[in-house]
Amino acid sequence: MERFTMSAYKYKRVLLKLSGEALMGNKDFGIDPVVPQHIAHELKPAYDAGLEIAVVVGGGNIFRGLSGAAAGMDRAQGDNMGMLATVINALALQDTFEHNDMQCRVMSAIEMHQVSETYIRRRAIRHLEKGRITIFAAGTGNPYFTTDTAAALRACEIGAQVLMKATKVDGIYDCDPVKNPNAKKFDKITYMDVLKKELQVMDSTATALCNDNHMPIMVFNLDAKGIFDRALQGENVGTVVCEDVSK
Ligand code: UDP
Repeated sequence: MERFTMSAYKYKRVLLKLSGEALMGNKDFGIDPVVPQHIAHELKPAYDAGLEIAVVVGGGNIFRGLSGAAAGMDRAQGDNMGMLATVINALALQDTFEHNDMQCRVMSAIEMHQVSETYIRRRAIRHLEKGRITIFAAGTGNPYFTTDTAAALRACEIGAQVLMKATKVDGIYDCDPVKNPNAKKFDKITYMDVLKKELQVMDSTATALCNDNHMPIMVFNLDAKGIFDRALQGENVGTVVCEDVSK
């Protein structure tokens, strides 16, 4: 594996948003161990070089509050279950990172002392400064939110330079590239265009929070080998959502 020093990178502190569904790999539910291993492998060069990496993981591979609500469940109750699902994913990722000699802490927005630390912003920053991958679990700790919003919130709180959102597609298109072969990919797009065109990048709460706090969002597909590193070195490997596309 190629080794880089800090100077090879454009960023020092980043937040990576992983969806729960991505962890399923080829399975219909839960976690395919191949995926966390691939993620660890992708993050390792940057970790070794001393980059500060925060992670927010979703829970859609296990439970989503909206699915519970659609089946007649109380929405807040379903959302609480969804948040607990993200903790399971966070612990799985932590285990994999540690098996790859990467120090890692899980911080949960819902207190559960026996399995993880509780999220405290200043402690999170301290973990990052010490070079530990820091996984933020349990979303925002509130129902009616998503882990995309949690990612936007935590990225702002810890002063990340970019929110890197890993998705199934390699960027943002003007329409669904799976259904339409003529779909056009954007290199850059404004937050306002994402909101106006109702592009399914992140939910509107997350996009608005990034807009208000000038937090760039990089949308990319983490499946390609070495892509995380290329992105960190400043290559536009997907689509960047920002205020001004001319800059
Ligand atoms: N959730 C929540 N509050 C939050 C974050 C998540 O209630 O701040 C719940 C919500 O039910 C959501 C589930 O946790 O459906 C899993 O998160 P999400 O759907 O964002 O995961 P992903 O789509 O990234 O796998």
